[in-house]
Formats: sequence, C-alpha cells, structure tokens
Amino acid sequence: MTVLVRPSSSTASPAASMAAAAVSELLATVGAGQAVPLVGGRRARYVHLDNAASAPALTRVAEHVAEVLPYYASVHRGAGYHSQLCTGLYERARQTVADFVGARPGTDVVVFTRNTTDALNLLSTAVPGEVVVLDVEHHANLLPWRSSAASGVRVVRSASTLRETETALVAELVRRPAVLLAVTGASNVTGEVPNLKRLIRLAHAHDARVVVDAAQLLPHRGFDLAALDADYVAFSGHKAYAPFGAGALVGRRDWLDAAEPHLAGGGAVREVTTTTTTWASSPERHEAGTPNVLGALALAEALRTLDDAELDRVRRHEAALHHRLVDGLAQRGIEPLRIWSDAYDVVGVVSFTVPGHRASQVAAYLSAEHGIGVRDGRFCAHPLLARLGVAEGAVRASLGVGSSSADVDRLLEALDALLAHGPRWTYVTDGASCRPSPDDRDLPVWARIAGLDALATTSAPCAPASSSHTRTTSISSTPAGADR
Ligand code: PMP
Repeated sequence: MTVLVRPSSSTASPAASMAAAAVSELLATVGAGQAVPLVGGRRARYVHLDNAASAPALTRVAEHVAEVLPYYASVHRGAGYHSQLCTGLYERARQTVADFVGARPGTDVVVFTRNTTDALNLLSTAVPGEVVVLDVEHHANLLPWRSSAASGVRVVRSASTLRETETALVAELVRRPAVLLAVTGASNVTGEVPNLKRLIRLAHAHDARVVVDAAQLLPHRGFDLAALDADYVAFSGHKAYAPFGAGALVGRRDWLDAAEPHLAGGGAVREVTTTTTTWASSPERHEAGTPNVLGALALAEALRTLDDAELDRVRRHEAALHHRLVDGLAQRGIEPLRIWSDAYDVVGVVSFTVPGHRASQVAAYLSAEHGIGVRDGRFCAHPLLARLGVAEGAVRASLGVGSSSADVDRLLEALDALLAHGPRWTYVTDGASCRPSPDDRDLPVWARIAGLDALATTSAPCAPASSSHTRTTSISSTPAGADR
C-alpha cells in the first residue's frame, strides 16, 4: 500500500485524515509491499528506491490498461467499433498530455514518442542551427545534439553556483548565437532543479529557444510550457508511473513541421506516388507506423491521476522524505553529491558514495541483504560524474509517490550495518558489476516458466569503465576505486 501522506494521529482532523487516505488510495502502486528473497533464505518487503530510473505503475494506470485491452485495435485507419474507440481514446490522451504540460493551443503539438531519449532525438533532427547544453546533462540530452542534422552542439561548463552558470551560458550565447538551449529540468544525479524561468528568459533574450528535459522533473512537479514560456518539453511515461513504453515531445509546431519525419512510413503522409511523397504535418508526420496506443493511454491516465492527487501534495510528501534521507546520511558522515551551492530546489534524487566501499558493492549489498533497490554507476551522465570527482560511480536513491519514511529508514539502517561491521555475505566483482556469491535467492515460479534461471547482474553501459577480471571480495576490505 502506498503511503503518500502519513497523518499524524494527534493533530490531523478527521477530514484531513480522510483526504490523505483518499490520496493514498489514488496513488497506490502495483506491487507495493511485495516481499523479495534475500541471500541466506530470508525475505523482506521490497523497498524501491530507484524511481528516477523507472517508477512502478500506478494501480489506476494498470487498471485502465486492463480495461482497454479487450477493445484494443489499431488507430486512425480502422472502420470497426474497437478501432474507432481506440482512435478516440488515443487522441484524447494527446489532449490530456497537452493540458497537463500547459501546451499553447494553436502553437504547440504533442508527439508521442518511446521515451525522453526518443523525444530529444526527434527534436535534434528539427533544430535549424547550433545547440548549447551544460555539462551536467544526461546523455539523452547531450548525444542527440552531437549527431543532429543541425550544425552541432556546444557544451558549456557549469560553475559551482546557478547564478555563475547562467552568466557562463549568456557569455556563450553572446560569443556565438545558438538556436536552442537544451537543459535539464532536474538533474538525474543530484535532483537539483535549475531556475528554469530565469534560464528561459536569458535564452530568449539571445534568440535561443529552450527545450527542457523533464524526465526527472515532470513526475514530481508537473510542467507548464505556457507559464514558463518554454519552447519544448520531453519526458517519459515510465518515470511517471506509466511503464508502458510511451513518452512525449511537446512544443512549437513550426520546427517540427519543417523537419524530416522521425520515421518514414504509413500514417505520416498525405499523398504518395511511386516517386513522390507529401508528408503530413505534426503530430502524424512524426508518428509513422502503428503507434503505442496503450502506452499513450497509460501515460495520459498517469498524468490525470497525478493531477487528481494534486502535485503539491506529491511535492510536500517527497520533500519530507528527501529531508529525512539527507539528514540521515549527514548523521552518518555521508554528503550527497551537489552541482550548485545555490540550488535550493531539489527533487527526491540523492546520490552519494560510502567511504571505503565501492558503489557497485554497496548497491549489491543493499539488494541482497536488505531487499532495497537503488542504482549505482554513472547514471548516463559521465561528464557530470567526472566533474564531481566520482568517475568511479556513486549510489543513487530516488523517491516517488510510493516511497515512505519506513523506506528511508530501512536504507539508513542498512547503511548503519554496513558501516558497523561490513557485509555478512561475500560478493563477486566482475568488471563494473557486483553480485553476491553464492546467490541463493529464488525466482518467482512464473519467471522460471518463462525460462529465467538466474537474476541478471547490473549491465555495464552506464556503469564505470573498469577492468574485466572477476574477483571475490568482502566489501568492507575494498576501498573505493582501489583496483582501477
Ligand atoms: N533525461 C534524464 C534527466 C533522465 O533521468 C533520463 C533517464 N534516466 C533520460 C533523460 C532518458 O530517459 P529515457 O530512458 O526514458 O529515454
């Protein structure tokens, strides 16, 4: 059961308690409270502290998908009842997304994509000039601009304060104009939220548009294109409690209508002859092929649910947990990674290193001995991790609507045990990944039937580069980075 607001029994009025319970119910997540096996045969309630990577589905989202499935059919071109029903739902989902992000009627268009990466790649083919980014970005907001059809990307080194970083950006835009500033809405490493309003004003003053990578911001704060005067926003459903494979790019139509279609194929055209093509305008122009109808519906249902629950409550809930986590870490001598000393607004993402312990081993220990899911590595933000002096990688705990103070306390207690006496199990380090050895955790029967015979180890792409040999270690005896 999700605990969004924990009413204090002594102070909350009956009405307030009832409202909190209703919101809690609304934001229930699938799989909450599930037990997972630990090494040595014990079990524990799973603590999901990896919401920044992917958040669990809201129950309401899963129920909506289940309710639509019997009617599932391809959209736009079918004459059947199911097809017309699904077409209506799909286009209504587009409107829900538009409303949620404050799209400007007549100016902005909603294109459904696979995820944030896909959305930013799409925009990169539409940009009619140079792009400027900061060196703090997720690779999804860095690499597409490098390979863009436009004239390339310039990476500005961020300073130790937001103010100085804004000054550096302006200096770069004055030195040489750019058509687009691509900036994160909230860092996937530190959770820090830049002052978007100010950045957008500065960029516009220098004739640059702004796209906000809101993968981390939107599920926690929502987004408002019109209020911010932003030009584009990109985000993913799977981080917003709708893990059904859809995301979106929303923003000004003109560049998108002038761009080559994201994919060439059926549905993206007005007319085709054997030698010529007349492309449709957006969004159809960029949604060739059969779209992810259920993904789009799930995304819209998640956004509707967040709206119904009121994002302000979500924000307060996550802020209280974030405070508890950061305080608890500080009491144990652990300082979260920070980019900017004057970034006071932070979403529930906390990355840190544990002195004397490799990040991959800490993450493996938390999972195997405590049933706590976190992430380790470089979080697809290699330049930032290098800048922060943790090129070896860090541990990231990230909160969501399903997180509770009990989850935070479980993490802190597990760290206490690690710091006090080290792990109770042995672990094998293999390149960038680490796993318990032996790993006697059982698998669900259905997973075995599906052909799985062991848990997968952490995959390498966003983990630190390292040597390829395999070693057995006791975590506590291995200083971070000792063999790299
Ligand atoms: N930007 C940020 C800030 C992210 O955190 C992520 C995901 N970690 C992405 C972009 C990419 O999102 P996706 O994998 O859904 O494309």
